[in-house]
Amino acid sequence: MKRRSVEMVDRFKTVLLFGAPGAGKGTQGKMLSNIPGFYHCASGDVFRRVDPHSKLGRVFYEYSSRGELVPDDVTVSMWDEAIHAHILLCDYRPHSDLLILDGIPRTPQQAELMDRYIEVLKVVHLTCDEPEKMFARLQARAEKEGRHDDADDAVIRRRWDVYEKETHPVLAHYASEVIGKVKAAGTPAEVLAGVLSILAPVQVEHFSVGD
Ligand code: AMP
Repeated sequence: MKRRSVEMVDRFKTVLLFGAPGAGKGTQGKMLSNIPGFYHCASGDVFRRVDPHSKLGRVFYEYSSRGELVPDDVTVSMWDEAIHAHILLCDYRPHSDLLILDGIPRTPQQAELMDRYIEVLKVVHLTCDEPEKMFARLQARAEKEGRHDDADDAVIRRRWDVYEKETHPVLAHYASEVIGKVKAAGTPAEVLAGVLSILAPVQVEHFSVGD
């Protein structure tokens, strides 16, 4: 059956949370998901919820345990299925919610594949000049959440390399006017203030909030 929702709502109005592993995209995304009219979707969370015994679950484990990216076609079709499931369940309402994507697109090829689904209104780039601070955050999170991909120092460093080589170039896919920078090194509240200074006007411009 042909997908109807994409044609029905045009492309999803989207903001990308962008930044290196440990920059705090997940923390910001979780806080934003408590604000009416924002729908947060993190590709890593979607992958982690897949049955580990399924074919996709095994592919995810194979790549993520090495700190590497799941292949682009698998990732985008997984995301497509997941977002349409959330639309069906009315968790995400494209007519009234700004979609906040976190962790996807993560390669220029993914950005290209996703252009048919999403209209990127802003990219919020969480910048960090001190990688060591981000490594420490990842290690602390691994202990707290038991994440296999952040437990090992070598895997964390691999994730960082992959970010620089494969993910950072995604920024070139978008016009420089849509990219806003926020320093990732502050407290969650400080970073949130910066993120909201970019997102709130986008929401007001594109949705009728609180009507
Ligand atoms: P994250 O929680 O965003 O750090 O993602 C954890 C792992 O899931 C990554 O290291 C990748 O193996 C996989 N993953 C998540 N999002 C993507 C994506 N957009 N493209 C490829 N792999 C992904």
